[in-house]
Amino acid sequence: MKDPEIETSPKVSDEVKCTTCYMCACRCGIKVHLQGGEIRYIEGNRNHPVNKGVLCAKGSAGIMNYKSPARLSKPLKRVGPRGSGAFEEIEWEEALDIATAWLSRCRATDPRKLAFFTGRDQSQSLTSWWAQQFGTPNFSAHGGFCSVNMAAGGLYTIASAFWEFGEADWERTKYFLMFGVAEDHDSNPIKIGLGKLKSRGVKFVSVNPIRTGYSAIADEWIGIRPGTDGLFVMSLIHELLKAEKIDAQYLVRYTNAHWLVVVNQGRADHGLYIRDQDGVAMCWDGEQNALARSSDVNAKPILMGEVTLPDGRKAVPSFQHLVERYLDGKYAPDAVSETTGVPAATIKRIAAELAEVAFEEPIELDITWTDIFGRRHDKVIGRPVSMHAMRGISAHSNGFHTCRAIHILQLLLGTIDVPGGMRYKPPYPKALNSLPKPFGREREVKANTPLAGPHLGFPMAPDELLIDEDGKAQRIDKAFSWEAPLGVHGLMHMVFTNAWNGDPYPIDTLFMYMANMAWNSSMNTSKVMQMLTDKDEESGEYKIPRLIYCDAFYSEMVPFADLVLPDTTYLERYDCISLLDRPISHAEAAADAIRHPVIKPDRDVRAFQEVLLELGARLGLAGMINDDGSPKFPGGYADYIVNHQRRPGLGPLAGWRGKNGERYGVGDPNPDQLQRYIDNEGFCEHAIPLEHQFYRFANKGYLEWAFKMGFVTNRDQIVMKIYSEALQKFKLSADGHGDVQPPQAHRARIARHFDPLPIWTMPLEESMVDTARYPLHALTQRPMHMYHSWGSQNAWLRQITGSNKLYISYCKGEELGIENGDWIWVISHNGRIKVQAALMDGVNKDTVWTWNAIGKRSGAWNLAPDSGEAKKGFLLNHLISELLPDQGDGYRYANSDPVTGQAAWFDLRVRIEKAAPDEARESVPQFEATARPPGMDRPSRILRYGKQFREARGK
Ligand code: SF4
Repeated sequence: MKDPEIETSPKVSDEVKCTTCYMCACRCGIKVHLQGGEIRYIEGNRNHPVNKGVLCAKGSAGIMNYKSPARLSKPLKRVGPRGSGAFEEIEWEEALDIATAWLSRCRATDPRKLAFFTGRDQSQSLTSWWAQQFGTPNFSAHGGFCSVNMAAGGLYTIASAFWEFGEADWERTKYFLMFGVAEDHDSNPIKIGLGKLKSRGVKFVSVNPIRTGYSAIADEWIGIRPGTDGLFVMSLIHELLKAEKIDAQYLVRYTNAHWLVVVNQGRADHGLYIRDQDGVAMCWDGEQNALARSSDVNAKPILMGEVTLPDGRKAVPSFQHLVERYLDGKYAPDAVSETTGVPAATIKRIAAELAEVAFEEPIELDITWTDIFGRRHDKVIGRPVSMHAMRGISAHSNGFHTCRAIHILQLLLGTIDVPGGMRYKPPYPKALNSLPKPFGREREVKANTPLAGPHLGFPMAPDELLIDEDGKAQRIDKAFSWEAPLGVHGLMHMVFTNAWNGDPYPIDTLFMYMANMAWNSSMNTSKVMQMLTDKDEESGEYKIPRLIYCDAFYSEMVPFADLVLPDTTYLERYDCISLLDRPISHAEAAADAIRHPVIKPDRDVRAFQEVLLELGARLGLAGMINDDGSPKFPGGYADYIVNHQRRPGLGPLAGWRGKNGERYGVGDPNPDQLQRYIDNEGFCEHAIPLEHQFYRFANKGYLEWAFKMGFVTNRDQIVMKIYSEALQKFKLSADGHGDVQPPQAHRARIARHFDPLPIWTMPLEESMVDTARYPLHALTQRPMHMYHSWGSQNAWLRQITGSNKLYISYCKGEELGIENGDWIWVISHNGRIKVQAALMDGVNKDTVWTWNAIGKRSGAWNLAPDSGEAKKGFLLNHLISELLPDQGDGYRYANSDPVTGQAAWFDLRVRIEKAAPDEARESVPQFEATARPPGMDRPSRILRYGKQFREARGK
């Protein structure tokens, strides 16, 4: 019987405010309970499209980020040597004056002297626009060191990508294959989705060298060798082709499988599509025995066979190239088994299971829809196999091609945007050739002038690269140069090294936001710290002369800044999770969201977005001032969110537009818009009619709506690309064709890594180091309860994980004579670290791994200098070089994917040696403890948050 003395649902708050979580990148809806103006409790919002009430450990521990003793509280000016942490507090007026002076000097002389890079923030549509108005080509966010391979591989293949732009049809899928996903990145939605699969008894296969998190609940775990997923997928494709288990109808209607490709080996048109006089790609109508437009629905295109064109040239459908490539015996399961570590029988069985589910268990839904050719259909057919992949694929130097291979596997099974497959999330799909091209060549950069277009774009041919006549890079990170031609998210991990080297040119001011580049966000961390403090011998000035840094917390990066602009936490500011950027849509609705201050800052801090707009106004940037020079958004970021228009009628938020909030998507600014979002629990969800929810690449109704919404630039079919002409154009340039060709030094590399069909190459570091000397792969993962370095300073989350160990399989431990808790040295070609070992089952025997970003520099984050994070925790980053080994010609390429520039974190090779018994039981390297900045109190040793609420209730 219920005890009347026990309150089972106590009232915990006197006010509840709905906003969006920012303890990781998933953007779940939260209800923040306040009592007496203090945050009492955070709850998941059951009405929110992302998490439907689910809240993870990070989300509920948001209170401790807001209450963190590491919060910065006032602008700081460096008064001691860089890195010492010697600062003085200054007023905002002085801080903004200093920043304006530095920035305006760059802008008035050469805007390239400013490098503006942001970390895991969620306001890229603002930051990129700001940088464009400033006029520097040197801008990007963190994508290049995170998962650009997933984004680029997806966009160059299926006009979309996993996670934010696509999701598994959790309700209908009958087989789920997941590659390289740790416990984060679409965290709560994946947990909810896996829960649905489990309750329906759907088979879930996880391909991952490590069996933790999601992999731990998989029905089958494939502990693949790191960096070989592409080969595994190509072998699955081999098996499907061999068994002729492919959806030929889907391929012809929705992909470029039937597009004819010229066979003219050694000539400039080899491998390019046959096009008519209007530029339309052609196919061969097997019935008419004649050329036909690839979009002609009455044609009967062939998928195999060489044809002779009226002009005498030979051509084959792109599908034939695919068949010839992957039916080759080198992709047979027996041939790839040793390299991947996956038994041949397993590969054969998985391929058979995929085919069985896709073709023997299709789903038919009675949904009437009209295709782009005007034909009415009364059904949608689902091939209910779905897939998801993320950083474990992405962070290898062969990740772009692996990602493309996964999407091609999906296309062969006919499972993109169908019931049970991977479904698009608006505003995707977007046709690649309609996306912007990158701007930032020398001639496009002028003093006191905005760039004429965006920094980041999607090159389709070498003449769209950002290079000069000699082929030299134009951006400080060398994105869109021959070193990373499809560097569509930039290469933030290369900014310090290149700026320090003055290659391709020196910069004056580095302006960074929320990127812990002096610690866990950089490769070669110790060297980066050295670069930040290194001075030019002649001038005596730092080699990177000025550094402005904005963050909410006293991270390892802060002591290296010359000027620190303290940010708010996510609970104290406005934010906009926009359809112009990375929204919170799902397959059945377009959706965006806001954050709004649920509590007032109790320190002298300002939201970075407010500061950026203020600086923009002071610098007189177009769009940020009125004709009379006054600030255009005097109300700050909230004012911008409501009133900024990227194009007439198109602003950061899609909901409640129009004077009275009567319009969705396109409409005049509505002064009441933010209040409407707040009243609607912080988000706006716009349902897509059922008949527009599938085959969106060719769904007439959907494409018309997407065009009206500004998601796509025309109403044409979006054709998915199993064969990439864009990549072939780069290959041709390396073979000596075209006006823009790589310099001799880059030719072989471009020729090797650019291929119209996915290739598998050994990860670059592995191919360059002595693998007998460094026999193990070394990886990192994020734990489910932490995200970047914010998590491991959080008082509640630290109780779950307060230091990290290096995990090794029991069999490898036995082979090396290492036991649980032993101290060991881990050695790479770049350095050595000392760490503590832990043995486990569930890890590939040639792989070791650890949790990322747990280790902290002593004194940083206002943690005790002798904390577990500092003394026992460690970073693998010290072992990872940002540069590949010199191959004898004196040049060292970035440790990146040669196609996209994606940081190749997971290519690391190491060996292990047991530490001597008399060596200290603490991790190495250790650094001098950073000083606590002015205004930051020593935290109390015992945390008593919550006591005040109990006392207020008299308990
Ligand atoms: S997954 Fe957790 S931390 Fe990430 S947004 Fe959702 S509740 Fe917040």
